[in-house]
Amino acid sequence: MSECAQLRIGREFLASISWPSSFRRKDHDRCYCHRCYPADLADTLTVAGYTYVIPRGWTRFAVAVDESFFNHHNVWDTWLNCYHGTSIDSAKSCVEHRQMLLPDDMTMHGKKIGIRENHIPEERFVFTTPSISYAALDYYAYTHSFRSPYDLKLYSIKVVLQCKQKADSIIVQPETVGARAQGRRLCPHIPNEELEWKTKHRSSVMIYGLLLEIKQNHASDDSNSPQYQKLNISVPPASNVVAPEPSTSEEITNTIPKSEPLPLPSSYREPMSKTRIALLVVLIISTFLPMAALIIGQIYKSECPIQPWIPRWMTVFGSVGLSASCLMFVILFINFKWHPEEEIGKYVSGCILCLLLFFFLAWLIAGSVWIFSVKPKVQFVQTNVTTYCQETLYKFAFGLTLAQYSLIGILICCGGIVALFGCLC
Ligand SMILES: [Zn+2]
Repeated sequence: MSECAQLRIGREFLASISWPSSFRRKDHDRCYCHRCYPADLADTLTVAGYTYVIPRGWTRFAVAVDESFFNHHNVWDTWLNCYHGTSIDSAKSCVEHRQMLLPDDMTMHGKKIGIRENHIPEERFVFTTPSISYAALDYYAYTHSFRSPYDLKLYSIKVVLQCKQKADSIIVQPETVGARAQGRRLCPHIPNEELEWKTKHRSSVMIYGLLLEIKQNHASDDSNSPQYQKLNISVPPASNVVAPEPSTSEEITNTIPKSEPLPLPSSYREPMSKTRIALLVVLIISTFLPMAALIIGQIYKSECPIQPWIPRWMTVFGSVGLSASCLMFVILFINFKWHPEEEIGKYVSGCILCLLLFFFLAWLIAGSVWIFSVKPKVQFVQTNVTTYCQETLYKFAFGLTLAQYSLIGILICCGGIVALFGCLC
């Protein structure tokens, strides 16, 4: 079976934010999408006497754990499974610190951990939950927009950390988003009264996975979070919420959680690598030709008395062509590196490309007039005669115009074939 798209997109997302590869355990990645985790499998598991909800629809990118710690404390068998909704930056910080910090702690960079805005200021705990629905609420889990460099589609990605937690370290308390007052149940498996866990024991929470919920964003407007729609939540007043923004987590190296099914084999290939190489080759070729035209046009700029516009045509073609190639490099860089979330970026680059296309067509027609009109009279020997044109200059210009017409012909044919297939299919 081919690899699930969620795994691919998640890896692209992690690559885009430079997720620390030293802490990855790719062989323990696991997808819980409807394809990878069928409907007939369990919705919950009981771990160390507590119910834990399977993260259906999410994909785990495993985090390496400290094996000696896990073995010494028998973490996989005796600690509880829980979630912590957060942002990707905070998740990364947790993993890099290898522990969740409490409010007022200092990070390794000397930054004091604060309490997230709109969260109860005196609650200095690390908050977790056994319910993926609760961890995924927008109060806790951020929704990030991400454009895949592989298929160029826009995705909404939510972030939750998957953790093990020492059973006697937790204080169980009700949800704090106002659902009880509104008579709504937040999780089908765990009652509202037991949704939130809190602890002051830093080393009692160990991260072993980053969960991503990846959804294609058709409207490119994620203000209507599916989680919100599903739970019909209105924004509540400030309340205790899961951990502070730049919390940190730990995790520890390796070992498969015994309560979990075995991970799927991963057959990951670097996203977009072939396409990138093809685009780079095209760009290099389209940079080489204008550069040659510019150089030849400049070297022989006064060596074509029969039509002085031929070297000028070459120089302008070369300059604009090189500028266009630079622009293409910039656009490709932005698309692949920054994944702009605004469609406007596409339109701007589309408009610039259209303008360039029209310019090159007009310039080709002008060049054709200058180059072809002197073809019957041009000679390359007698330099002091008005019918002279430097041979390399003229032949290069002549070949360049023919190459452009050939390219236009090929593009029209390809377009026609595609349109024909479109009609037939
Ligand atoms: Zn899947």
